[in-house]
Amino acid sequence: MKQYDALVVGAGPAGATAALYLARFGLQVAMVEKLAPGGLLLQTFEIENYPGFPKGVKGYELADALAAHLEAYDNITRIYNELTAFKAEGDKKFFLIDGEWVFASTAIIASGVRYRKLGLPNEDKLLGKGISYCALCDGNFFKGQPVAVVGGGNSAMGEALHLARMVSHVHLIHRRDEFRAIPMYLSRLKTLPNVTFESSSIITKLHGEYQLEGVTIKRIREGTEDFLPFNGLFILIGFEPVGDFFPSELKVDQSGFIETDAEMRTNLPGVFAAGDIRSKLCRQVVTAVGDGATAALSAYTYLEDRHG
Ligand code: NAP
Repeated sequence: MKQYDALVVGAGPAGATAALYLARFGLQVAMVEKLAPGGLLLQTFEIENYPGFPKGVKGYELADALAAHLEAYDNITRIYNELTAFKAEGDKKFFLIDGEWVFASTAIIASGVRYRKLGLPNEDKLLGKGISYCALCDGNFFKGQPVAVVGGGNSAMGEALHLARMVSHVHLIHRRDEFRAIPMYLSRLKTLPNVTFESSSIITKLHGEYQLEGVTIKRIREGTEDFLPFNGLFILIGFEPVGDFFPSELKVDQSGFIETDAEMRTNLPGVFAAGDIRSKLCRQVVTAVGDGATAALSAYTYLEDRHG
């Protein structure tokens, strides 16, 4: 069985920071990640609130910088595979990766989040055929055409701004009149002639057999329904925790996010959590990075206390 001092689940900003800190403490670290380092950074067009970058920084640029930083440490083993099960037995932590058990003395879970779905019939079938959860990845397919974005948070509004630069028209469909997004996004979008706000509206039907052809939207206040024709729909309505591998003893909140204390300790000794997977209010790149550093120091202290 492969053995490490610490195993980090996820290579987004939280997991990558945790791995870097642990490596700098001189530990043997494994980092499990399905795809490339960066997590949701890879699907974020621009980060405007990252300190030190007054003009903003592209998500992929930060992800590339993280990957290069990880490469600089030969005591970080990167495992590109899916973690399917995790057991914590006292001081020992076991991880099932690609059918093989891997052992570590401490674990940091930074598995992040995945896109929430509308849950409508045809949604899965039309994925990649007009339905997308990532404007940065798929926006280019709809250059010069009308599209719609669903959601009223920072993701929906930020990506609507990005899309409005390349498509002919953006319908911004939101179920309420008020928006969760920061006011700056709202005021910028309101100045754009090719953005229409479809507030207090919900999508009730996705049309199209092999390609999205449009949606039926219900206007809640009026009680009426309309057909809106377009081939691209970006569903940006928040995230769910990636926690399919969590052991049942791990304490999570009502939505499935891991509960920790301020030092990133979970209820399981030697198991820490960092980044978006934690139950918390503020999910940003900077808070993920901070969580990663704290979790690494806590994991190191845990090992020192046990093994000296
Ligand atoms: P979010 O803040 O949770 O917003 C989700 C939006 O989708 C809400 O407006 C919600 O409506 C709507 N919604 C949820 N379920 C829905 C459903 N079934 N049908 C229709 N609409 C639905 O999610 P997010 O915008 O993805 O942001 C997630 C986190 O990342 C936040 O903490 C956010 O601040 C952060 N983030 C930050 C930035 C930035 O700072 N630039 C960019 C992206 C994301 P209601 O409002 O009615 O609940």
